[in-house]
Amino acid sequence: MTLPIPQYLPDPADDAQLIADFEAHVNPALATVLKFIGFDATESYARGSLVFDSHGRKYLDCLGGYGTMSLGHSHPHVVEAVKTQLERMSQSSRVLFNGPQAKLGKKLAEIAPGDLQYAFFCNSGTEAAEAAIKFARIATGRTRLVSTVGAYHGKTTGALAVSGRDKYKKPFAPLLPDVVSVPFNDIAALEAAVDENVAAVLLEPIQGEGGIIVGTDDYLRAAREICDKTGALLVCDEVQTGLGRTGKMWGCDWAGVAPDMMLLAKALSGGVVPIGAVLGTPRVWEFWQENPLIHSSTFGGNPLACAAGLAAVEVIENESLVARSLTQGEKLMARLQQTQAKFPQCVKEVRGRGLMIGVEFGHEDVTSLVLTGLAQRDVLVVPYTFNNPTVSRFEPALNISDDEIDWAANAFEEAVAQTAMLIEDIDMDESHGEEAAPED
Ligand code: PLP
Repeated sequence: MTLPIPQYLPDPADDAQLIADFEAHVNPALATVLKFIGFDATESYARGSLVFDSHGRKYLDCLGGYGTMSLGHSHPHVVEAVKTQLERMSQSSRVLFNGPQAKLGKKLAEIAPGDLQYAFFCNSGTEAAEAAIKFARIATGRTRLVSTVGAYHGKTTGALAVSGRDKYKKPFAPLLPDVVSVPFNDIAALEAAVDENVAAVLLEPIQGEGGIIVGTDDYLRAAREICDKTGALLVCDEVQTGLGRTGKMWGCDWAGVAPDMMLLAKALSGGVVPIGAVLGTPRVWEFWQENPLIHSSTFGGNPLACAAGLAAVEVIENESLVARSLTQGEKLMARLQQTQAKFPQCVKEVRGRGLMIGVEFGHEDVTSLVLTGLAQRDVLVVPYTFNNPTVSRFEPALNISDDEIDWAANAFEEAVAQTAMLIEDIDMDESHGEEAAPED
């Protein structure tokens, strides 16, 4: 894709002030981390897979807002749809019928698995998880929730309760009661935990923040059967895996499983306007009959977000991005695996599906060194996974070009080679990194 010359670059002098202001008024600790990695400018302009900072430095974005930029930054079709909607009406009166919501709801029902006919719209993944927890409880009249070790569903209190890792949970305890956490990919543990008291089982088809752990097809199928047997609802969190990221439209398509509810966010509006959604079956949606406003969000499903959502799905279909995710994912994965084979002392494993790729390093410090090396080569990857600090992620745009894959893969090889030389002198066992395995 030919890119326009970057515009809107702020004066670097103003930029130094912006960084100081960020440190003084937003998040001092994060500012320290970013400076340590070597970032000294604000992001200013982005198109496709490229991001430019205020000094005009060009980066290859292989993290894309943690898997949000599936279409690349500012896809013109989505931007145009948002501009058109902006001219008409940006936010809803919330009293009259909301047309863009109806269009997006219908489109999602068409492409979703099974009979996920209805959509509740919100603004983020964590709000989708909160809503699904409430929906599961009211729809079943049960309270217990079963989630998995290493799971990530967001950082609001309900979503956090069904997520893994004490580091993010303990400071906010007590969270929601009646939550049971079972090891991921363990059918027997799931079977033992799920009975007639369970409202829902929440699963990511691939655990993203848990360190790109692919749920086996047998596991997802067993989860479906166990839920059917006990009357628990199966909730698939497709916030990261959905809309082509894994090389199929939905992560659960790999197992041919249709959930009772599905959570969406991130790529749903092409990364242009925040949006989240819970899709549900007619059986689940019955509870709305009692009170159509039993759950709501002022900005959820606003016209701008839904116009962006519809346009984003059109791009995914028209540009065959699901198939492209699979082919480009195979190319990138093969290249990263070649590096792994050359430097097994640094890289333990490269795994994933489509363009949701995790790289597991031998030690947390190796992760930091390689990520710094990638940043030096202008490649942005997910710096850490919340629940597994030895795993980094590549989640580039699904339309990433072959040249961009070469850029990412070459930079990775160089950064790993540089790290391999450095760690020859360091006894990794002596440094005290965090345990790779999630703590709860
Ligand atoms: N669910 C999954 C699987 C996620 O990966 C995330 C975010 O990374 C969330 C939920 C939370 O989404 P958000 O950050 O939009 O609240």
